[in-house]
Amino acid sequence: MDECIFCKIVAGQMPAIKVYEDDRVLAFLDINPRNPGHTLVIPKKHAETILDLSEKDSGELFERVRKIASSAKESMKADGISIIQNNYRAAGQVVGHVYFHVIPRFESEGPASPESVLLVKKMPEEVLNKIAETIKANTSRSPVQPKETRPEGEARPKKKPSDEFDF
Ligand code: AMP
Ligand code: ZN
Repeated sequence: MDECIFCKIVAGQMPAIKVYEDDRVLAFLDINPRNPGHTLVIPKKHAETILDLSEKDSGELFERVRKIASSAKESMKADGISIIQNNYRAAGQVVGHVYFHVIPRFESEGPASPESVLLVKKMPEEVLNKIAETIKANTSRSPVQPKETRPEGEARPKKKPSDEFDF
C-alpha cells in the first residue's frame, strides 16, 4: 500500500490532473489518454480490486463513475462513453488499486466494438488542464438526470469533438 501510486496521488505525494474529488472518491486524467477526457475514478481508501470493496463502497464508487461519465461525455461533446474496469494481472490490471477508466468515444473513431483498440494520444499540458477544468465544472453541477426524465427539447451533445479539444 505504501508503494501504491494511486494512494500517493490521493495523499498528494504524486501529481495528477484532478477532475473530481469528495471524501471517498478521486477522479483524475489518465497519463496515457486513449481519448480526450480519459479519466480514472478511484476510491480514496486503498483496495486492490473490485472484489475487495464492500457492496456499499462499490455502489457509491459506481455512482461517482456514472456522474463523471456523464460530465466527461458532455464536456468532450462525445458520442459515447466506454467504462472499463480490469481486475488482476490476467485481466490487464497494471496498478494494484481499484480504478475505473471513463473514456469518451467518438463516432469519428470508426467502427465501435469492445475489441476496438484505443491508442494512447499525446496531448499538451494546457489542453489537459482545459479538459480537466471543463469536466470538473460539469461534474459539480446538478445530479445526472436519466435520459427519460430530461426536459423535452433539451439540447443534445454535438456529434464531433469540438475544435477546442481537438488534438
Ligand atoms: P490498466 O492498463 O487498465 O491497468 O490501466 C492503468 C492505467 O493507469 C493506465 O491507463 C495508465 O496510463 C494509468 N496510470 C498509471 N499511472 C498513472 C498516473 N501516475 N497518473 C495517471 N494515470 C496513470
Ligand atoms: Zn492504493
